[in-house]
Amino acid sequence: MSDRLIQGMAENGDFRILAAQTTHTVETARELLDLAPVATDALGRALTGSLLLARLLDKNIKNQYVTLRFEGDGALGTLIAEGTVAGHARGYVENGAPPDLSLDVPRAIGHGVLTVIRGTPPAGKPYTSQLTLGGSGVAQEITRYLHTSEQIHSAVLLGVLNRRDGVAAAGGIIIQTFPHTTEESIARMEALIKEAPPLSTLIEKMPIEDVVAQVLHGLDYKQLDPSFNVPLSYTCPCTRERALAPLQLFPPDELSEMIDEGGTEVVCQFCGRKYTFDVDDLRSLHATPDA
Ligand SMILES: [Zn+2]
Repeated sequence: MSDRLIQGMAENGDFRILAAQTTHTVETARELLDLAPVATDALGRALTGSLLLARLLDKNIKNQYVTLRFEGDGALGTLIAEGTVAGHARGYVENGAPPDLSLDVPRAIGHGVLTVIRGTPPAGKPYTSQLTLGGSGVAQEITRYLHTSEQIHSAVLLGVLNRRDGVAAAGGIIIQTFPHTTEESIARMEALIKEAPPLSTLIEKMPIEDVVAQVLHGLDYKQLDPSFNVPLSYTCPCTRERALAPLQLFPPDELSEMIDEGGTEVVCQFCGRKYTFDVDDLRSLHATPDA
C-alpha cells in the first residue's frame, strides 16, 4: 500500500484529523542514509511529523515546507527532517549508527534545541521558532511546538516499527482541537488515545484509513473527502547547481587546492547522491566570487 496523507473530522467538527502512512518513505530514508534502528525510529517520526505539520499549517501555499532540526546532546547528534505540503520528505542524521543498541528515541536525541522552520519559497523569509528540547520524544516536542508557537492545541501520535529486514510500518496522526471544542469531547478523545494500541502495530495490519477509524472509534469520525489523498515519498530536490553553490563559500586557497587535485566530489547529505566537479567547474567559482 502506497504512502499517503488523509484528513478527516470527528465529533461534528470538534476535531480536525490528519493522518499519514509513511512506511516506504521511512524505509527509503533507512536505506539511503544507512540508519540503525533507533536512528530510523527517530528520523522516521520526525519525517512523518514534518509532513503532517506542512499540511496542518498550510494556508493554501503550494510550496510550503516545514523543517525540524533537532540539536540534542544524544548519540544521534543533529537530526534534520523536512516535509513539504506536496508530500515530499527528506532527512539527515549526523550519527546514524550509534554503538549503544539499548537507546530509545528520547535519549538518542537528548536535550538541546529544536528549531522549526516554515517557509514558502521563493517568496518571503521563513518563520523560525526555537524551543528547548526536553528529552520527551518527537511527538511530544511537536505537540509543544504547536501549542507555544502556533497556538494550536493538538495530540500527536507517531510510530515506526522496525523489523529485522527493515521498516515494517510507520506513520502518524495529528488531532487538532478548536476553541469551540468541548471539555467532554477532549476528555473522550484523551481516553481513546490512552487506550489505543501502538500506532505502528496498527499500521502494519491495516490501511491508514482504518487505523484512524479504529483509534477514534465512538467519536463519530469521518474522512473529510475520500478523494483527498496526498501521495508521500522520500524525495530530495538536490541538483548539480545547488551542490556546487556552497563551494563558493570556501576560502580561495582551499579552492585552489581542489583545483590542484584535479576536482572534487560533493555528496548530498540527504540522499547520498554524488556530484563530481572538475577543474573547469571550480575555476568558474573563482571567476564569480560575489555570486
Ligand atoms: Zn539530495
